[in-house]
Amino acid sequence: MNVREYENWIDGAWATTARKVERKSPAHGELLARFAQSDENAVNAAIEAARKAFDSRSVWSAIPGADRAKALGRWVDLLTREIDRVALIEAEEVGKPVRFAKAEVEWSIELARYAAALAWQIPGDLVSNIGDANLGLVTREPRGVIGMITPWNFPLVTLFQKLPFALAAGCTVVIKPSELTSGSTLEIARLAKEAGIPDGVINVVTGSGRTVGEMLTGHQKVDMISFTGSTAVGIRIAQRAAEQVKRVGLELGGKAANIVFADADIDAALDGILLGYVLNQGEECVQGTRLLVEDSVADTFLDKLVERSRKIRLGLPTDEKADVGALIHEKHMEQVLSYIQSGIDEGATLLLGGSRVTDNGLGRGFYIAPTIFSDVTPDMTIFREEIFGPVLAVTRFNSVDQAIALANDTNYGLGNGVWTKDIDKAIRVSRELRSGTVYVNTFLETAVQLPFGGFKESGIGRENGLDGLLEFTEVKSTFIKLGQRPHALPHTVAN
Ligand code: NAD
Repeated sequence: MNVREYENWIDGAWATTARKVERKSPAHGELLARFAQSDENAVNAAIEAARKAFDSRSVWSAIPGADRAKALGRWVDLLTREIDRVALIEAEEVGKPVRFAKAEVEWSIELARYAAALAWQIPGDLVSNIGDANLGLVTREPRGVIGMITPWNFPLVTLFQKLPFALAAGCTVVIKPSELTSGSTLEIARLAKEAGIPDGVINVVTGSGRTVGEMLTGHQKVDMISFTGSTAVGIRIAQRAAEQVKRVGLELGGKAANIVFADADIDAALDGILLGYVLNQGEECVQGTRLLVEDSVADTFLDKLVERSRKIRLGLPTDEKADVGALIHEKHMEQVLSYIQSGIDEGATLLLGGSRVTDNGLGRGFYIAPTIFSDVTPDMTIFREEIFGPVLAVTRFNSVDQAIALANDTNYGLGNGVWTKDIDKAIRVSRELRSGTVYVNTFLETAVQLPFGGFKESGIGRENGLDGLLEFTEVKSTFIKLGQRPHALPHTVAN
C-alpha cells in the first residue's frame, strides 16, 4: 500500500515540517498517511499568509463577487474530476465504506456550487426613509481571517459547510482538520491553487487540537473561529475566543430522536430509522440515536427493525457493498463498548448486537455490530449521552405530549425526526421540538438552501443556506449626509 506523505499547505505551496504524525487504517491497521505535526512557526506562517491575502484587498476580499464565484466554480470542477481519488482517501482515513465517502464528496461539491452562486449577490440594504438630506447604507463585508477547525467523522462535508461560504463572502482561511483525517482537506487546498484561487486564501496546518487548534483559537490575527466537533471542545473554544471578543461559529454534538407514531408509514419509518442509527457507523452528529415509538405499534415495529438490522453489511472501506465500516480508532471503539455495557448495567434490554465484530476479515479493524436497546428510560446514560457508534436506544410513549417531552429531554438540539401521516400532528410536533432541524417522514436529508445548526448545547450559528454565508460577514452601517449639513453647535461658528 502506498503511504501518502503530506506537508502543511501555506501560501500556495507545501511547507516542510520536521515532525510527522502517522495515520493507520482503523479498518485493517496498515499505515495510510503521514501528516505534519505543526509547530508555532507553521501556524504563524499560515495565519500571516491568510492575513496578507485578506488585507491586500485586490487579492480576494474586495474583488468583484463574480470573480470569486468563477474561481470557486473552477475549483469545484477540479474536485469533480477527482471525486474517486478524494473519496477513497476519505474512506480509508475515516474507515467508512467508499460509496458513502463518494456521496460525501458529491454533497460537498453541491455545497460549493451553491456557495459560489451566493458570491454573485451578497445582500445589503439601502435606507432611504431618514429624510431627504440623509441616506443610509447597510453593507456586509467579509469578516476577515477565519480559523476553521473540523472533526474526523465527515472531514469534507463539515469543511464544505464552512469553507466555500467563507470564501464566497471574501474571507481567507486557515484550516486545522482532524489529525486523524487530514488527507482530503490538503487535497482540496492543492486543487484550489490549480483553479486559480490566489495563494494565501486557503491555508492548511495539521496537528493536534491541543497544540495547533489552541494556537489558532488564541491568535490575535484570526477574526473568527468556525468549529465543528464535540460540545466539550466547543465550550473551550468559546471561552478562549471570548478573551479576545472573537466571533465563533459552533457546530457541536447531538442526540436526535425519531418519533414514530402509530399512524406512520411503517415501512418508510423503518428505513429512515435504520439509516439514521447506522450511517457513518453511527459517528454522526445528527445520528438518530433515540427511537421514540408509540406503544401500540412498538412490538411489531421493533421486530421488523431487528430483522432489517441483521441484514446490515459490515465491511472494509473498499468493499462497494458494505453499509457500515470501522469506528475511527480503538479508544473510541472501547468507549462505545462501555456505553453498551452501561445500557446493560442500567437495566435496558439488549435486542441486537452489543459487541465487537472480528469475523469475515474484519479482525484487525474496530467494528461494532449494529446494536439496539429497548426499555430505555430517560435517566439512562445511553438516552442522555452522545455515543457516536451504531447504537439505538428505544423508548415507548403513549401520547403526543409525552413524545415531545421525551424528545426534548436532552441538552442537545441539533435534529429530530417525526413520522406520521397526520399533517396536523406533524406540524404541531415539529414546531415544539427544540432542534435546529426537524425531518418529517424522512431523516438525514438535506438541501443546500436549508440552514443547518443547533439549539441548546448543539451549537451557535448556522451553516448552509444564505445564513451560512452571512455568518462570515460583518454588518457595516454607512450614514451619508446629502447637501449642506446644518451646524450641530451653531454658536461655535457665529461671529
Ligand atoms: P473533537 O471536538 O474532539 O475535535 C474536533 C476538532 O477540534 C479536531 O480537529 C481536534 O483536533 C480539534 N480540537 C481538539 N481539542 C481542541 C482544542 N482544545 N482547541 C482547538 N481545537 C481542538 O471532535 P471529534 O471527535 O473530531 O468529532 C466528533 C464530534 O463532532 C461529535 O461530538 C459530533 O457530534 C461533532 N460533530 C458535529 C457536527 C455538526 O455539524 N454539529 C458535525 C460533525 C461532528
